[in-house]
Amino acid sequence: MCPERQVYLLDPQSLPPETIAVTFAKTSRSPQSFRDIAAELTEEKSAAFHEKWVVGYGHASVAEHAVLHIAIENISRLAIETLESCRLASYTEKSTRYQKWGPEDFYRPTELAGHPLEKRYLETCRALFTHYHQALPKVREVIAEQFPRCPDEDESMWERRIRSKYVDVCRFYLPAAALANVGVTINARALEHTLRKMLSHPLEEVRALGAEMKAVARASVPTLVKYAEAVSYLQTLPHLLAQEAPAISPEIGDWCRLIAWDCNAEEIALAACLFRYSHLSFDQARRAIQGRSPEQITALAQHVLGGLDRFTPPLRELEHVGFTFEVMLDQGGYLELKRHRMMTLSPQPLSTYLGYAIPRAIEAAGLLESYEDVMTFADQTYRELATWNPEVAAYVVPNAFHRRALIRLNFRQAWHLIALRSAPNAHFSLRRLAQRMAECIRGATPLLGQFLPIYPEETWQQIETHFFLRA
Ligand SMILES: Cc1cc2nc3c(=O)[nH]c(=O)nc-3n(C[C@H](O)[C@H](O)[C@H](O)COP(=O)(O)OP(=O)(O)OC[C@H]3O[C@@H](n4cnc5c(N)ncnc54)[C@H](O)[C@@H]3O)c2cc1C
Repeated sequence: MCPERQVYLLDPQSLPPETIAVTFAKTSRSPQSFRDIAAELTEEKSAAFHEKWVVGYGHASVAEHAVLHIAIENISRLAIETLESCRLASYTEKSTRYQKWGPEDFYRPTELAGHPLEKRYLETCRALFTHYHQALPKVREVIAEQFPRCPDEDESMWERRIRSKYVDVCRFYLPAAALANVGVTINARALEHTLRKMLSHPLEEVRALGAEMKAVARASVPTLVKYAEAVSYLQTLPHLLAQEAPAISPEIGDWCRLIAWDCNAEEIALAACLFRYSHLSFDQARRAIQGRSPEQITALAQHVLGGLDRFTPPLRELEHVGFTFEVMLDQGGYLELKRHRMMTLSPQPLSTYLGYAIPRAIEAAGLLESYEDVMTFADQTYRELATWNPEVAAYVVPNAFHRRALIRLNFRQAWHLIALRSAPNAHFSLRRLAQRMAECIRGATPLLGQFLPIYPEETWQQIETHFFLRA
């Protein structure tokens, strides 16, 4: 008789993560059910299995079945960057859009303890937080005037509606030292990779956090992260590459440039779609596309991209087409951008060398002069600290300062990012970027680009003019 289908959960309340991982791993050689395999395992047997197979023979994917939920509180935004640089994990963090910071909610780097610049660092962070707190009610007034209370709205509904709008502006003051909480869901393989990066990091905060995460994780996965250590390649290569770069002033060009994309992108994408649902070779599929009239090609693109709802991503075949952008946006915006995991993101070190943005509401609130003063103060502090330690100096850089990055993403990820970040509820920095990226993609690949799910009611130029005095 044909064996019956079985679907059930392995209960993480009764089975430790390492035992679940071994239970799944053993199905590759054992004809037993998962229940029976799990019943024969102990924590000791699971640890021995992982030592032999995962650590010894390098069958590392087994460790992906051991999943941890790690709660991390009061770490700097700078430390969060390294933590969240792992793409194969899930994060939720305190939002600069929906929460406010207390005056002392910033990290004091241990590297600075007793250093002649420690006082200056504290003064700068405190000044930024003081300005942030002074700006909140003033910018709120400006926003409240622009978005008056509706007759059917009570006070708390109205406050909720306008809150993110004024907090969105005031976040430009917050330095990278601002503390936040992050919830992380990660499997043991990805965690080991993250720990190796953290333990190799130049900042003491990141190394200490890595060591604490490792210790905490070992209570749940004693074997799988045991061998995570600092990696000398990760420690030395950044210095080596920094020295190789010519010592010249950085050029500041256009803030968003599409610098490379696949030639014949549209032909490749559509040929890949035919390939997937036929038995043709890729060359045959491509010739089939080449033989079509422009109207037929448009009709095919319409089939592929025209009928999607907002919960359905386009076919995976759209991933065969990629785009590389060089972008520069305020650090607050960059911190949101970096949360998109399905792309290759190469950020430059955080510094003040690329200047800072000024939201228009700052001027409307009568804060322009004091905003420029405190940004200049932060810039000077950064530069003084950077001559001693550029990594530590980055803690004082406010969200207003620009960050430059290279992004490589495929059409499918661009679709998702543009839909999410051009939406009216997205931050204006990201809306501006999403609109501009869509414009670039439409210019390079008009056939596919016309279907991008961009919010149609504004352009990046309008966003720039409306929200930025200087972008
Ligand atoms: C309105 C709004 C409010 C937000 N508020 C907060 C907040 O308060 N705090 C906060 O931390 N973040 C917040 N974010 C960021 C948000 O949680 C995402 O991290 C960010 O938008 C990246 O998008 P994404 O997760 O859809 O996917 P991306 O990382 O861009 O990945 C693309 C797609 O791949 C798939 N995918 C990628 N990784 C996984 C995975 N591990 N498991 C399953 N599917 C996956 C999903 O389909 C995803 O949509 C907010 C975003 C928005 C739009």
